Amino acid sequence: MSLSNVPKLQELYFHPWKLPLETLTSVDDQFYSFIEYLVGSTLSNLLRVQEINSVPILLLTTDVFEHLFLKINDVETDLLRQGLLLKIDNNLIVKSANRTKIKCLLDILKIASDRMFKEGQRIAPKHPINYSPLAIPSATPAVSTANTYSTLTVDDQRNHLLKCIDDWSSLNEKFLNLKEFKLEEGYNFRLIVKVGTNGIQASIECLCKTIIMLGKLHNKLIPSNFYRHLKSPGCKYVNRLLKEQKFEEKNRNNSYSTSSSSSSSSSQLIKNNSQSTTAVVPNRKRTLGSTHKINSEKKRKN
Ligand SMILES: [Zn+2]
Repeated sequence: MSLSNVPKLQELYFHPWKLPLETLTSVDDQFYSFIEYLVGSTLSNLLRVQEINSVPILLLTTDVFEHLFLKINDVETDLLRQGLLLKIDNNLIVKSANRTKIKCLLDILKIASDRMFKEGQRIAPKHPINYSPLAIPSATPAVSTANTYSTLTVDDQRNHLLKCIDDWSSLNEKFLNLKEFKLEEGYNFRLIVKVGTNGIQASIECLCKTIIMLGKLHNKLIPSNFYRHLKSPGCKYVNRLLKEQKFEEKNRNNSYSTSSSSSSSSSQLIKNNSQSTTAVVPNRKRTLGSTHKINSEKKRKN
């Protein structure tokens, strides 16, 4: 996808139909470059830290600025706060230009995605896009086949969701800052898809016992609420894995350094600020997800 064909935001505001539809299926780095091109690097970084990595996920996010008001203490978020917020009488508010830019961007993307649904265009075969191998968005091109969504069965939706989740956890190398982590149905989450009053509905039970209802984009179920849960402080499962990982790293590091008890090496590791490192229980078992599995309910699908 070349950005040279994409008009600037000011022009798109008046002529939103000039936005090339292939931009709607960009993901990850391509997506962030596209957003940076339209609204600047700070807003693009704001999406990046939240792993809002494609147009559908952006369109489904209620408020991209919410992140700045959460109790998150890291350098990246602080820099974003400095760039995007304004302090008035001890209250922090989003600088209005930033809100306006995002609103303008969302309006343009909505118009473009509506156009895509109406035309039922198939972008990929007509205009081959030079995706890097990592960026092949197996989930996103399906946007172009909106018309077929109503005929999707429970199994179709289920398979689609599982594929999205699988892609997501294998394409993101530093997924949730965890090494060697993979989401597996029946292992660290349980997916339930069934027919409800509003058509096919789905929920996911995380290993931390939280149940997350999944949203829909044009009748197709999408897993973004689950991702959001995993990244949130409320997911005790991921929090525990992060603690265990940190503990292992610390231990490994200690075993390299001889008994001189120099603490400089281990203190380096603790700069990952979000977690408290004090209350870690010594657990030398295999780290990731080595504990309880979800009770063999894999078969109970619908
Ligand atoms: Zn959880």
